[in-house]
Parts: sequence; C-alpha cells; structure tokens
Amino acid sequence: MNGAADPRRRVPRTDVLLADPRLAAAEATVGRARLKAVLGAAQDRVRRGEIAPEEVVPVTLAALPETAAGLRPVLNATGVVLHTNLGRAPLSAAAVDAVVAAAGHTDVELDLRTGRRARRGRGALAALAAAVPAAGGVHVVNNGAAALALAATALTAVRQTGGAAGLGDGPAGREIVVSRGELVEIGDGFRLPDLLASTGATLREVGTTNRTALADYAAAVGPGTAFVLKVHPSNFVVRGFTAAVPVDELVTLGVPVVVDIGSGLLAPDPLLPDEPDAASALRAGAALVTASGDKLLGGPQAGLLLGDAELVELLRRHPLARALRVDKLTLAALEATLTGPETPTWRALRTTPAALRLRTERLRDQLAAAGLRAEVVPHDAVVGGGGAPEVTLDSWALALPEEYAEPLRLGDPPVLGRLERGRLLLDLRCVPVDRDEAVRAAVARVPRGRRES
Ligand SMILES: *Cc1c(COP(=O)(O)O)cnc(C)c1O
Repeated sequence: MNGAADPRRRVPRTDVLLADPRLAAAEATVGRARLKAVLGAAQDRVRRGEIAPEEVVPVTLAALPETAAGLRPVLNATGVVLHTNLGRAPLSAAAVDAVVAAAGHTDVELDLRTGRRARRGRGALAALAAAVPAAGGVHVVNNGAAALALAATALTAVRQTGGAAGLGDGPAGREIVVSRGELVEIGDGFRLPDLLASTGATLREVGTTNRTALADYAAAVGPGTAFVLKVHPSNFVVRGFTAAVPVDELVTLGVPVVVDIGSGLLAPDPLLPDEPDAASALRAGAALVTASGDKLLGGPQAGLLLGDAELVELLRRHPLARALRVDKLTLAALEATLTGPETPTWRALRTTPAALRLRTERLRDQLAAAGLRAEVVPHDAVVGGGGAPEVTLDSWALALPEEYAEPLRLGDPPVLGRLERGRLLLDLRCVPVDRDEAVRAAVARVPRGRRES
C-alpha cells in the first residue's frame, strides 16, 4: 500500500489535537477523560478511512455533550405537566439563577453581619413560613418520603414526658394509625406502608379500602398511638361507595394528626379543587403536614414539614434529620421558588387552550410551508407526578406519524411526545413559548425516509 494514501498514517496526533484551542475550550467544559474518549473514537474513524483527518476536530466537537454531566435537557411535549421520568417540576429562571449564585462558597450557614454561625437555610425557611402563616414551625428535608420517614421515626420514638404539644405525658406510642384506603404505592414499587414500617413504627390499619369512619379510628387509638396519619391518595381515585374522615374530625381523637398532602400546594388552588393544601390542613387542626417540593409547588426536589412549632423542632433535632438534610442548591432553589415569579409548572397549568391552539397551528403552518403535513388535534393534558389524577387540562397537539417518535427522542434537543393510537402527539403546554421554534426545527430535521415509512 502506498504510505501517503494509507489513512492510518494520516491520523492526527493526540497531543497536537488537544492543543487545538477549540478542543482545549471543550476540555474545560467536559473534562479531559471524556474529551480523549470521544477524540479517540474520531481518530479511529480516520484510521478506517471514514472521515478525513481535517474532520477530527469538528466531528469530536459535535459528539461531545454540552456539559460534564450526562443529564440532558429535553423538551417535554408530552402534555404531562409533572413528568416523573423527566424530573418533575422544571425550575423557574429565578430558581436557576439562585442555584448558580449559591453553587460556590455561600453564606448558607453564616451570618455575614456578625461573622458567626447562622441557621442553615434561614432564607428558605423564612420564605416557607411566610407562605404558610398557619404553620408554627417549618423544616425542609430531601423529599416527601424523607419528610414522612422523619415524622414516623421521631414521633414513634420513646417520648420524653411533657414533650411536644399534643403528645401528652402518657406511655410512649409506637403505633401509627392509618386508613386502609390510604396505604398507597407512590411509584417505582415504593409503598408508603413499607416506608413507615422501615422506620420501626407499627402500622395500625383501620377501616377498609373504600370506607373508613371516625369510629374505626377511635377504636384503634389508645395509649400506644403515636399519631394518626392521613395520606392523600394522590395518584388514584376510589369512586362509588366510599367514605373518608376529614382532618377536622380526626383531630377530635385527641392524638396528633399528621397529613401527607403529597403535591405541595401551600394554599387552596381553584384550578385543582380536590387537591389538599397545607394551610387548610393546618387550619383544620393537623399537627404536622408533609409535602413534596417538586410537584405542584414547582420547585426543587424537597420534603416540606410544616406544623406545630414544638413538633417541628423535635423533628429538626432528631439525629435522622442530619441524614436527610438538603444542600445549599436545594435551599436556594426553594427560596427563589417561594419568593420569585410564577413557576413554569404554574404557567403550564394555566396556559389557555386558545393560546395553545394558536401556537400549535403556527407550528403546523410553518411545517406545511416546508412541505410537511401535520394535523392539529384536541388533546387532554394531565397534571402527572402522582397529582390530581382526575383532572384533565384541555389542550391541543400536533399529530405526526408515530415514526417521528424515535428520531425526535434521539435528536438534539430530544423532544418527547405522547404516542396514541399510531400517532405521535406533541403538546406545547409544557414547552416554554420561546422553545416552540426548537420543536419546529427538531421536527423539520427528521429525515425524509423516516417521515414516509
Ligand atoms: C409524591 C408523594 C409522596 C412522595 O414524595 P417524594 O417527594 O416523591 O418523595 C408521598 N406521599 C404522597 C401522597 C405523594 O403524592
């Protein structure tokens, strides 16, 4: 073989390539190891004669991820507002700014005026307390499940006498009294009763799947009771011959009532009349409310604990609380979510069908101009994330052949839609308005062959 024509001899050297300013800049973003791996693959392609030596740098740059993390931003065109597989709530721009600002060294636990240690996350806690005046105390942990685990652990532990309000001086109670209709699985095989039992607490189940009465609770409550737990069955609905006991009746039992509201509405929302909220539960007499930060609140993953000041302090001081502590990034995002402008989740829930129809028709018309025919069809969007299972949000979608699903999912950015009866539906409800163009471009980029198959 002629040496000059042998592609293997023309492979650019790694040290020369790494000195290229474009690759040096990429190395600062993705790190040396990942850059070298991608670069090595491009060099191999030169060896095999697939690309020219001059193409190594552009090919490498095109194959590199945008950040050093594998998580990729995607466009959620599923019409599912809180999609667990897509990270539930997207953060607001204000929350993202707060996260970036807190990412380096920050005064998370320092009072800059005095130079002394300060309460960790005081800004986020103050914002949460201000948002729910009915709460005497507030605390934040890793997620909703952690909030419940902390409550179950701390409140069923052997109690000091004269302890927190409502706990009384009686013998230590290790039992959690809960309705059989509220023993829910929250997803991915995780079940709340298992979570509670894993803390060492004893579950005392009362009532039946469809009906539980105050008398059922009353018969079970006794000296062994730590608290009555009310769980919002957030991802399903029992219909027909049903009965459940509201919080304001449970509090007449004389033991603390802990309410897991799930979705994290802090106050009632007329859009979601069946979703429980923290303020109402506390006003009804709940001793403690637990909730998630990244569902309807629209913030970062977090577990919110709100309620009786002494009880919250008991939880905050419990050794397990340290293991469930949130980081500065979560605290920053939570505070910005609570005090900043409306969240993307809030906006997605309130976007009107008329506005969505206009955006979708514009998308259709732009694609038609490029020779691509698609239909605009009515669509039912949903809240998702284990919330408001009965609520559908009137929406619109662009209907494409289902063959579009894979190339759009594998594109850059990936666009996720919903497959329904042989069609791919793209619902713009959860797509930020300024990303409609990115959706259009992604659809237009799908190769013709895929479109016609
Ligand atoms: C979502 C949910 C949880 C779990 O909260 P995470 O933040 O996902 O840990 C617990 N209880 C209810 C009722 C929920 O809806």
